[in-house]
Amino acid sequence: MALPARHHSRSRVGKRRSHFALKANNLIACPHCKRPIPAHRVCPHCGYYKGQEVIDVYKGLSKKEKKQKQKEIAQEAK
Ligand SMILES: [Zn+2]
Repeated sequence: MALPARHHSRSRVGKRRSHFALKANNLIACPHCKRPIPAHRVCPHCGYYKGQEVIDVYKGLSKKEKKQKQKEIAQEAK
């Protein structure tokens, strides 16, 4: 294993670590359902992108889940 030739001061370590902070994702409100979504992505809640429905968000859901999701979306549209 590599062995550091010189002592690393706490100050030097701190300066390196000052760049490690994570940035929050850039969330915008979906223009269709108003929920927060990442910019430039298809909305995972309503399936809309650029004013068009591009994915079927009800696919793979049971009849009960589908009904519940429709209710949620209708409520948020108000
Ligand atoms: Zn949406």
